[in-house]
Amino acid sequence: MDEFLMKAVDLAKQNVDEGGHPFGAVLVKEGTIISEGVNELHVKHDASGHAEMLAVRRAQMELETDDLSECVMYASGEPCPMCFAVMQYAGIQKVYFAETSEEAARVGLSKGKEIYEDLQRSKELRTFRMEHHPLSGETAMERFYNKR
Ligand SMILES: [Zn+2]
Repeated sequence: MDEFLMKAVDLAKQNVDEGGHPFGAVLVKEGTIISEGVNELHVKHDASGHAEMLAVRRAQMELETDDLSECVMYASGEPCPMCFAVMQYAGIQKVYFAETSEEAARVGLSKGKEIYEDLQRSKELRTFRMEHHPLSGETAMERFYNKR
């Protein structure tokens, strides 16, 4: 386990040296690294360009599957809520990480921690506002359900 976690941290450190944020990740299947990622916000204007997210995308493209249930993620930092979610959508069962969200917040990278805190509040009390505004007529969900 340490070998893969150290690889993720090495990627993160290298990313810092190249002007990026300190996040790296490797995705492992049956003891072999199948994809890697680093935070690419500094090179691509993509808010979803997180290390774990990119590792998942690359693995799914490479393996041509949306099922990564046999994979284990090794991330330098505690995954943010977005990556937490995408790993579950992909079926990943286990994640190891070396540094916590609290440690990230201490160096000024607090968004993940803030979102986790927001998600713990009831919908009405969250700082990020989402408003339900249903329309009349057939919904997309109804069309999906009726098409099955
Ligand atoms: Zn993330």
